[in-house]
Amino acid sequence: MSSKTSRGGWACWMAIALSAPLAAADAEADVVSRMQREALAGNAAYRLVESLTTEVGPRFAGSAGDRAAAAWAEGKLRALGFPKVWIEPVTVPRWVRGEARGEIVSPFPQRVELLALGGSVGTAEEGIEAEVLGVENVAAMARLGDEAIAGRIVFFTERMRRTDDGSGYGDAVGIRSRGADEAVKRGAVAVLIRSVGTDSNRLPHTGATRYTEGAPRIPAAALSVPDAELLERELASGQPVRFRLFLGSRSEGEAESANVVAEFPGRERPGEIVLLVAHLDSWDVGTGAQDDGAGVAVVVEAARLAARHSPGGPRRTIRVVLTANEEFGLSGARAYAAAHAEEAPSHVVAVEADFGAGRVLTFRTRFAREDAAAADELAVRLAPLGIPSAAGDARGGADLSRLRPLGVPIVDLSQDGSLYFDIHHTDNDTMDKIDPANLHQVTAAFATLAEWAANRSERLRSLPPEPATP
Ligand code: ZN
Ligand code: ZN
Repeated sequence: MSSKTSRGGWACWMAIALSAPLAAADAEADVVSRMQREALAGNAAYRLVESLTTEVGPRFAGSAGDRAAAAWAEGKLRALGFPKVWIEPVTVPRWVRGEARGEIVSPFPQRVELLALGGSVGTAEEGIEAEVLGVENVAAMARLGDEAIAGRIVFFTERMRRTDDGSGYGDAVGIRSRGADEAVKRGAVAVLIRSVGTDSNRLPHTGATRYTEGAPRIPAAALSVPDAELLERELASGQPVRFRLFLGSRSEGEAESANVVAEFPGRERPGEIVLLVAHLDSWDVGTGAQDDGAGVAVVVEAARLAARHSPGGPRRTIRVVLTANEEFGLSGARAYAAAHAEEAPSHVVAVEADFGAGRVLTFRTRFAREDAAAADELAVRLAPLGIPSAAGDARGGADLSRLRPLGVPIVDLSQDGSLYFDIHHTDNDTMDKIDPANLHQVTAAFATLAEWAANRSERLRSLPPEPATP
């Protein structure tokens, strides 16, 4: 072979060697940018929340709405072109809210707006009337003697801070989740809490309260924020304050619900799964637009966009799980982790949408040490959406809490939660609160993650499993 030919061949090969990855990178950048533009300009996600909140509405675990939601999801996922759609049965506890009434009896009689906390026991037919003891939170109650608490209605007054990242919720939610269980140990007869929310509407915020299995239980209700402040002012008068509470809440055993699962099977590596999760259930108040209709719409539309924009289809499987009963016991998350435990190492990444429709502000990852650089690849793709990486490890939401210990890599697409807790778990969680432009930015971010994880050359590796938290 002549040196000329050889040089020509070498130059040609070099050109190909150098340009092929560049061309591939360009082609991929085109895919990402087209997909993001379509997510931002389209309104498919908005239409999905609209459909769910209009045609189904509230869908509390085990209710008729819950069953309607599963049927809605199955039909919608098929209609949207997911090649595989199936139902995984989940048993859920069945709790019924019943009526709730409360009034300040003395010193200044006033009616108040309240809601039973999820799971609360009811009162007797005649209700409970007792003197109110105001205390900030569980830690402050621990500093009081039993004689101050016994026979009283304990009223937790802690204020929730408004924050972008929702950390104010984590700080304050203990009065709701643990207040009644702690107060009954000290002899209280009922619990009232200031709603765990950031608004000043006269609408109480519900949410689950937990009792210790087998221990005595007392009724627990949330006052609207203005009514909590009214009750505080009556206490500030220095006179004894008496309150009358009636709750018709009750438990009715168990009911059947479902995780609704759908996927676009991978064309090359169908056994490697990119998992997108949102919860299909909601509280029985409002129509669950933000919590978690928005998340349902985001993961469904993001999966569809990512699959459609993957040339020839996604290399790996993109799976959506719409979980049962996140709100009142994580039944769907537990059932999925149990049913798919052996498949856990096949999950290359998991992401959850359960923070309303606020824009994605930052992202975090929890990848294996060897995949640390993969976060930079993701950063490049999320940059056009205005999403930089943030410090710290991804945690995943409640619905990923059973998969994380199994070593599944996780990404948090952290949304702006500054307004989320104004309407969270209230009658005000309705469609009109969803901003389409924000919702579509979230959809674009989830689609970007899904397309990247499904099509990148190497899979993200599993992490070492860790002991499960109870
Ligand atoms: Zn939620
Ligand atoms: Zn919720």
